[in-house]
Amino acid sequence: MRISDSQIAQVNHQIQALVSAGSFYGKKLEAAGIESVSSQEEFEKLPFSEKSDLRDAYPLGLMTAPEEEIVRIHSSSGTTGIPVIIPYTQKDVDDWAIMFARCYEYAGITKMDRIQITPGYGLWTAGIGFQNGAERLGAMVIPMGPGNTEKQLQMMQDMGSTVLCSTSSYALLLTEEIEKRGIKNRIKLKKGVIGSERWSDKMRQRISEGLGIELYDIYGLTEIYGPGIGINCKYNTGMHYWDDYLYIEIIDPHTLKPVPDGEMGEIVITTLVKEGAPLIRYRTHDLSRIIPGECPCGSCHPRLDTIMGRTDDMMKIKGVNVFPSQIEEILQAFPEVSSEYQIRISHLDGKDTMRIYVETNGSVDFADLANRIAAKVKSVIGFTPLVKVVENGLLPRSEKKTKRVIDERYD
Ligand code: ZN
Repeated sequence: MRISDSQIAQVNHQIQALVSAGSFYGKKLEAAGIESVSSQEEFEKLPFSEKSDLRDAYPLGLMTAPEEEIVRIHSSSGTTGIPVIIPYTQKDVDDWAIMFARCYEYAGITKMDRIQITPGYGLWTAGIGFQNGAERLGAMVIPMGPGNTEKQLQMMQDMGSTVLCSTSSYALLLTEEIEKRGIKNRIKLKKGVIGSERWSDKMRQRISEGLGIELYDIYGLTEIYGPGIGINCKYNTGMHYWDDYLYIEIIDPHTLKPVPDGEMGEIVITTLVKEGAPLIRYRTHDLSRIIPGECPCGSCHPRLDTIMGRTDDMMKIKGVNVFPSQIEEILQAFPEVSSEYQIRISHLDGKDTMRIYVETNGSVDFADLANRIAAKVKSVIGFTPLVKVVENGLLPRSEKKTKRVIDERYD
């Protein structure tokens, strides 16, 4: 997706603000001797921002507007200890609500809907983002927050909630509880707005059929406002994102060069009008692609595909990008193999090779099974791996997360 002239002008405003605030990014630009950009090529020379930069700015080093204009902070969960603090001005809060209200509209939700919000409130951007967007739209909010399934189901029936906002796993739990209690006929839900994470088609179908609702994926991250920067429309051809607030690039996470539209890579986001904590070329480490062409809905907002995982999971083999999730899906179609597998990638005699180890019991022909799996991988991904079948229990197990992919090329 090319950057437009008006987006370039907006980026230059963000650059000026970052430099005069003396933030980490302003300093990066000064060190690189960059004062402004005037073309796609110059924009693509701007340094990236990383989550570690944001963490280093803890607590309030990202604050780019004067303190009297900051009205709120949010924080992202740091798996490594130090969280990231994002300051918001009133305009940031308003812009976020406008974007979120647009998401609801794209999902066909109106001010006549009753929106039950189950994501958490507090430092997280989740609950309050869903709420501000719904109020901006003019719908009725039922601000439940997470947990307390008993009360959730009671309110859902008594208030006649028509929209459920939730994570995919909580939506699944509610589906099962509703079925268990046989109260489906007392539930008025029509739509679900689900925080975007990688979830299987099987799970999506289970929730959609179990509750009899349409499901919408909403995208966002705390560093860039929060959830609500993109959503799929009813044609379900990817998530439209709001390019009047954001410029999105997809880069190859190894070479860091932008890839053409349609190709898979890492989502990199530049804010265009943010005041409290603007970010230029922020690496999300989320994997997706820009969907080329126009959506049947006629929207002028470009589309991102469903999030395919994290860059840390991606493997490039023989020039093809491969995700462990793709291999896992293929293996799931073979009832003979256990849930354990291991993928080893190496570089032998000038060529990349992928070996897949799977387990089975002694009752099947190992060689035949290996051939069938290899043929299936070839037909789905485009190259033939070496498949090695072993007895059940031979692959390593661990109490924590089992390491399933070993890339010997980078060891
Ligand atoms: Zn559309």
